[in-house]
Amino acid sequence: MIVTDAIIAKGFSDPRNLYEMLRWFFGFGEGKILDKRCVGFLMHYRRFGDVFVLRFDTGEEIVSTLVEFCERERIRAGTVSAIGAAKEIEIAAFDVSTKRYSKKELKENHEILSLKGLISSVDGKPHAHLHISVAGHDFAAEGGHLNKAVVSPTCEMVVRKFDGELSRKQDEETGLKLLEP
Ligand SMILES: [Zn+2]
Repeated sequence: MIVTDAIIAKGFSDPRNLYEMLRWFFGFGEGKILDKRCVGFLMHYRRFGDVFVLRFDTGEEIVSTLVEFCERERIRAGTVSAIGAAKEIEIAAFDVSTKRYSKKELKENHEILSLKGLISSVDGKPHAHLHISVAGHDFAAEGGHLNKAVVSPTCEMVVRKFDGELSRKQDEETGLKLLEP
């Protein structure tokens, strides 16, 4: 069972994980451990060494859920690759002259042709810089910097964790948070 694997994969290192495992074994809260809405976070994923395979389900917002996953697994550097489908997708394009992003929302369901990105840290917290390419029912592709996307009905993601931390700092010249490799 994937849910069980995910809980065990989290290990005993974090007190929250131990609490969740106890809830699962003893059925606290009317056995609602299997319902992620009751525990705040219980997405389906498995670990293969430094690589994690994640399954996002309907209604999960990709960017915030990924950041929460990285917080949980203490990931501060890594790469992201995914395919799937989503709706309520907010893409953005950076305007160098105004140092602002212009945005576009795609409300309808779209196939995620490619979602790629980098995990780093900003002020010690995990940060996901993601770009996405999607296509609707007319098969025309659109894409950009990804602000938000709600999974519908599934998204399959691979996260490769790097040792250590890759931090970002605000750069006045570009107006962007640049990597500090
Ligand atoms: Zn970007």
